[in-house]
Amino acid sequence: MKVIVVSGGVISGLGKGITTSSLGRLLKARGIAVTILKIDPYLNVDAGTMNPYQHGEVFVLDDGTEADLDLGNYERFLGQSLSGAHNLTTGKIYRAVIEKERRGDYLGHTVQIIPHVTGEIKRTIREVCAAAGAEVILVEVGGTVGDIESMPFLEALRELSYEIGEHRMAFVHTTLVPVVGPVGEAKTKPTQHSVRELRAIGLRPNLIIARGPAPLTEEIKAKISLFCDVPPEAVISVPDQPVVYDVPLVLEAQGVGSHLTKLLGLPDRPPDYTAWKAFLTTYRRSDPSVRIAVVGKYTELRDAYLSHLEAFHHCQGHLGAAVQLDWIDAEEITGSPNGADRVRRADGLLVPGGFGPRGVDGKIEAIRIARTERIPFLGVCYGFQIAAVEFARHVLGLPTAHSTEVDPKTADPVVSLLEEQQAIDHLGGTMRLGRQKVVLAPGSKIATVYGTTEVYERHRHRYEINPAYFERFTSRGLALTGFSPDGRLESLELADHPFFVGVQFHPEFLSRPEAPHPLYLALVRAALARKEVPTPAARAPSLA
Ligand code: GLN
Repeated sequence: MKVIVVSGGVISGLGKGITTSSLGRLLKARGIAVTILKIDPYLNVDAGTMNPYQHGEVFVLDDGTEADLDLGNYERFLGQSLSGAHNLTTGKIYRAVIEKERRGDYLGHTVQIIPHVTGEIKRTIREVCAAAGAEVILVEVGGTVGDIESMPFLEALRELSYEIGEHRMAFVHTTLVPVVGPVGEAKTKPTQHSVRELRAIGLRPNLIIARGPAPLTEEIKAKISLFCDVPPEAVISVPDQPVVYDVPLVLEAQGVGSHLTKLLGLPDRPPDYTAWKAFLTTYRRSDPSVRIAVVGKYTELRDAYLSHLEAFHHCQGHLGAAVQLDWIDAEEITGSPNGADRVRRADGLLVPGGFGPRGVDGKIEAIRIARTERIPFLGVCYGFQIAAVEFARHVLGLPTAHSTEVDPKTADPVVSLLEEQQAIDHLGGTMRLGRQKVVLAPGSKIATVYGTTEVYERHRHRYEINPAYFERFTSRGLALTGFSPDGRLESLELADHPFFVGVQFHPEFLSRPEAPHPLYLALVRAALARKEVPTPAARAPSLA
């Protein structure tokens, strides 16, 4: 096992997740089997119980783990699916240690942070690496060096580096080099301080990734090298990039791939970026452009919808058409004419997943506009459920139809609680979660989009479309086109519409730069067709 640790200094939100993912990509491009583990030093067992304002989107894995959004970055950059074991939290570690203590595994001993908690951390890292069959495991430590919360993890990593020995472990430290003052001077002091903080706990960085608005000059690199005790070629400048998929190439251009393989005693084969570069070249072409309205309730925080945003980037890199997203707060649609106008002006509409009553009326109205004005529409999870509510209200003539999530006493519960959910009193990890089979109706639009009638998609929901309304929906033209093997509705569509598709599952979690999700491609293609300027690539039957 070889280990690369990625820590962060100065501030959070430096793009450590993208850095870690990109480092993984550099190794993968050299044919090295690599995997990534994220450490989140909070006490929550998983991210499922946090609202998106806390840490952004909750990313769902195949096994149903509700993980930190960085797991999504790892999957997209590596093109590999990961399991819940790849997201370690303080909550998980403490739970495991306390369970062992209760079982009597430590009988006779005082259970302590060192060695028991650190031991559990090290054991998990080894186990995850072995289970993934990886030669190298990247370990990203969430938070900022110096936080009390991350101490046991950094201590465990220090112990691990001692245990596994020379040339088997590398430390990468991500810091901020701010540019201040009227002449725009780059400041190295915060980096010096955060490296000193690392040294105080016995860790020495081998590589410093300096984030900031502008590239570092050679002079600044030399200064960081001198103060932080790393060779100048190990000070890497990563200024903000127009698209995150540029970062592996920015690192590669500064020799990071060779540097890391040398540090770890790995063969430095010539890297292969053929598909990656083709994606970026097409991405930059980006003419013509389409505008997709995204109606949600966390629209001021892009990270809350990160996987959707990335899925559209993937489409752009395959169709060569720029996708501009117009983020509309659902409450603005009912609160002012401006919001509804923005939906009308869009070439396509996405209503992503969500929870609870806030903004639901705006989502209903946005979907009504898309349905009646023939604007291409994709509804995901809550967006799919609300499409059923909208149809029930305005086509079936059931004016108070609703989801019981919003109106528990509605006369027409077209969306209601799953039977197995009714007895559940714990909210953590109890939704219908993870990868599940979906069977699509032959000849339906969605089956055509996928090019198959059997797909596996990730889920995260408690409520479902009520089967008591199935017949009424189909009799009025809402086709029910996808079902789980046990009969739950998974997708709906309108035949008499350019593109109107809703899905109970979350396609956004499976979209990758090298394999955009077919449903997003279909939405963007329909939006392009609405503008009547399809690119040659957009007209091709399938690129996914
Ligand atoms: N709130 C809805 C449910 O629980 C939808 C969930 C979602 O969009 N992820 O079923």
